[in-house]
Amino acid sequence: MERLQKVIAQAGVASRRKAEQLIVEGKVKVNGKVIKELGTKVSGNDEVEVDGIPLYKEEHVYFVLYKPTGVISSVQDEKGRKVVTDYLYGVEQRVFPVGRLDYDTSGLLLLTNDGDLANKLMHPKFNVEKKYIAKVEGIPSKEVLLNLTRGIVLGDGKTKPAKTKLISGDRRKNTSIIEITISEGRNRQVRRMFEAIGHPVKKLKREKYGMLNLLGMNPGDVRELKPFEVKQLK
Ligand code: URA
Repeated sequence: MERLQKVIAQAGVASRRKAEQLIVEGKVKVNGKVIKELGTKVSGNDEVEVDGIPLYKEEHVYFVLYKPTGVISSVQDEKGRKVVTDYLYGVEQRVFPVGRLDYDTSGLLLLTNDGDLANKLMHPKFNVEKKYIAKVEGIPSKEVLLNLTRGIVLGDGKTKPAKTKLISGDRRKNTSIIEITISEGRNRQVRRMFEAIGHPVKKLKREKYGMLNLLGMNPGDVRELKPFEVKQLK
């Protein structure tokens, strides 16, 4: 939800100040009703008209990127490093990543220009499940992994229960591959969870975000979501 004057200004119709004036003068309608209060908030689903002309609405687009490692989950980087939107070609809409993956993490990242959906998905109460494959140091026992399943205390509080599965362990290299599914999205959460049980992460990939997956994709690939996938997210 955004303030009405900001939405009008962002659509390029008028400056923020002029937009405020138009609202006060009764020249702005939201869903067919004149709105004169400056604080009014609107969402992408509301129909806004200025002087009887509907605001141009950018079409919403949704993409899955298989983010390679060594890429910033942002739309620009002051140090000139590669960013996730560098992988989108011919997309005119201003899309941004929903949440982030660390520079060193690869995997599924949703990109969209649908701010309302992005806010909803990132809200803690929405509990989107994210499945990761982690290569960690050592081979954790079932009992140790149970700490993650139950929730573990990190610097920013106890984590919600996670699902974990030991896929394989390599005694010679002293590493293992573990599947972990969490429903929160705290900063570096998976890395910190494994650190907390004494098995630091060496490699991390996000395989699933809700129902979305990376089937048939390679690092750097982008695909547009199918309408049924967008529906499932909403
Ligand atoms: N958890 C992490 O530690 N890193 C990520 O990139 C995503 C989840």
